[in-house]
Amino acid sequence: MKKIGLFIIFLNAVADPVFSQVKFSDETRKYIEYNDSVTVFVHALLIDGKGNTPKPNQAIIISKGKIDWIGDDAKAVIPKGASTIDLKGKAIMPGLVMLHEHMYISAHDIGTRYLHLKQLPYTFPRLYLAAGATTIRTCGSVEPYSDIRIKKDIDLGLLPGPSIELTAPYIEGPSSRFPQMKENKTPEEAAAFVNYWADQGFTSFKAYMGVDQPILKAAIDAAHKRKLKITGHLDKVTYQEAAALGMDNLEHGFIASTDFVVGKKENEAPATGAAIKSLANLDIQSDSVQQFIQFLVNRKVGITSSLAVFEGATTTQPRPDADAINAMAADAKDFYLQRFVSVKSATAPTDMDKAFGKAAKMEKMFYDRGGLLTVGTDPTGIGGTIAGYGNWRAIELLVEADGFTPLEAIKIATLNGAIALDAEKSTGTIETGKAADLLIIDGDPSKNIKDIRKVQVVFKNGVGYNSARLFASVKGKVGFN
Ligand SMILES: [Zn+2]
Repeated sequence: MKKIGLFIIFLNAVADPVFSQVKFSDETRKYIEYNDSVTVFVHALLIDGKGNTPKPNQAIIISKGKIDWIGDDAKAVIPKGASTIDLKGKAIMPGLVMLHEHMYISAHDIGTRYLHLKQLPYTFPRLYLAAGATTIRTCGSVEPYSDIRIKKDIDLGLLPGPSIELTAPYIEGPSSRFPQMKENKTPEEAAAFVNYWADQGFTSFKAYMGVDQPILKAAIDAAHKRKLKITGHLDKVTYQEAAALGMDNLEHGFIASTDFVVGKKENEAPATGAAIKSLANLDIQSDSVQQFIQFLVNRKVGITSSLAVFEGATTTQPRPDADAINAMAADAKDFYLQRFVSVKSATAPTDMDKAFGKAAKMEKMFYDRGGLLTVGTDPTGIGGTIAGYGNWRAIELLVEADGFTPLEAIKIATLNGAIALDAEKSTGTIETGKAADLLIIDGDPSKNIKDIRKVQVVFKNGVGYNSARLFASVKGKVGFN
């Protein structure tokens, strides 16, 4: 009888996910520090996510998971029975909205033929939330039913983790290096693939490197017919061709662009290394590059920066992050460190070093011209970019490599992400009426972006999770589960 009662409560929570109806599991409760129906933050340095100058001595009242009131400390009327959190010396900012996340990591190559990806359903949702990502888009799935289940269990309070925008399995073309991806050989097959996964509950799509223009067009049209968005990591199709076909978004900043490969044949992949070489040698101030960027802006194609994963292919990358290394299981650590040594041993500057710097500056040009720039992590590559720690690095690189101010980087990682997901009415900034997705930071990331690493409590829908406890729970496990 008890089991039946619980089941009914869960059904209610699904049908009407009201704050008070979420029944957290014992496991999730281990990480919850605050869960009051009314909470008041006082003495906060408020960073709103819109890029405005931070305001000191602010009070924020959150009630039933939503932001109710914001204003000067002196004017705050604290409701009776509310719990108060003093944020003297601390900053409060919106939860991160990260757009190129996955529930998997790069696993070992299988021989030389395949690249295999390994689902991490235990560690990754925790790491995202621990770092302050309250909303993520899983930008391409390799275990779709697992992704659906993780989202459902998080929403029910059974698992700690972020809110998830589910991206379907990759829309791949006829030949793939990834054995976990279906090879779509015709436009009809691609359209059927989109419809199938939309029927399973996926609400966004990602086209991959092997698609040509006819397959991509069929996928875009099928997604748009269902009012769903589609992004892509393309190779055979250039950014300009994709934009002309109606693509909503493109991943990996400009590093995946094949637009400047000399002699590229239409609908064919460039030779290995040719795209990076073309970027390494590109005059980014030239008219053709400026026109290219303006074309994408005019077509309203969003661009997602994912510099953290590409940094792992440069000789200029910093030493491995000790905390990220400690989070890894032994095999994952070995895999990463071997590759790190090998990348670092190359004679600098490599084509990748040069392409990385130029592509980063192009992201800022795109933003400055009015393009919607968002940010994501892509926890793949040589294995050092993992959920959580990688989120922070991706945001730091917006400042270090692109040249954004910390406030601009925060806006890109919060409001812009929400806009790209059409979720800006409910999250992405600190404004009344929005979900209480907030980060308590023991520092000031508007001055020093690295202070985002000092996140202490992550509020998602008004429930405060202890960041350190979440991080501690995955120690030594990343790559294993
Ligand atoms: Zn990816």
